[in-house]
Formats: sequence, C-alpha cells, structure tokens
Amino acid sequence: MKKLLYLPFWKSIPNSMTAANQSTCLTCHKPVKGRTDKKFCDDYCRNSFNNQLKSATNNLVRNINNALGKNRRILESFFNKEEAIAKTTKNKLLEKGFLFKYFTHTYTNKKGNMYFFCYDLGYLPLENDWYLLVKRKKE
Ligand SMILES: [Zn+2]
Repeated sequence: MKKLLYLPFWKSIPNSMTAANQSTCLTCHKPVKGRTDKKFCDDYCRNSFNNQLKSATNNLVRNINNALGKNRRILESFFNKEEAIAKTTKNKLLEKGFLFKYFTHTYTNKKGNMYFFCYDLGYLPLENDWYLLVKRKKE
C-alpha cells in the first residue's frame, strides 16, 4: 500500500558549502564573508529566505487541506441523509474530482480490510472498482 510521503522542498537545497572555505548566500548567492558556516550575507537575506520558506510551506499545507476538504465533500455527496453507508464507483469519484492520494488516516478491521478516511468519512475499495463508503462511528 502506498504511503503518503512529503519531502519538504528545502531538502533539495544543498547545504551551504561548509567544506569549502567560501560559502555563498542562500538568498542572493553572493559569497559570504566571515565564518565558513554562515549561510547569509546579512539579516535581510536571512529574513527573505525564511519568509519564502514559510510561505511555500503555508501554500503546501493549504493545498493539501483544500484537497482533503474537497475529498470529504465528495464522499459526503454520495450519502443519503441518515444513512451510515453508501456505495459508488471509482469513475463517479473521479468525475467529481476525488484525489485518491489524499486521506487523513486508515483503519484496518479484523478481517484485514483497510479503510481510507478523509476526516470522519471513509471508503473501502471493493471488487471491480466499486467503493463502500462509511461514516466513522461516534465514540
Ligand atoms: Zn545575500
């Protein structure tokens, strides 16, 4: 089963060249004077780098939250009022824009069936691209 894995994008930013005698500023890429472990030439460059990092992270979190919320609304649209379960097909989910890669958690029952949840609503893949939709029982 595929697991969600989000690599923070800054993992792709190489460490400043601590091995070299001269490092370059992570913001403006000019050589940094002073200690070899310095990553920025001044506070301005440090702040703008950190702000950029924060807004990129915020965007990522917002986009994932939006996708999860949309998935939940899509699941909800298949339930009749008061019904605890529903059934639909993969195509119908996809038509509404359901994104299978986004879910909040999984639940495996005693039979070993794994349910995927978007908050309180979940689905269990059945045969032939059918899906059983469930609501989490209130605790
Ligand atoms: Zn700089």
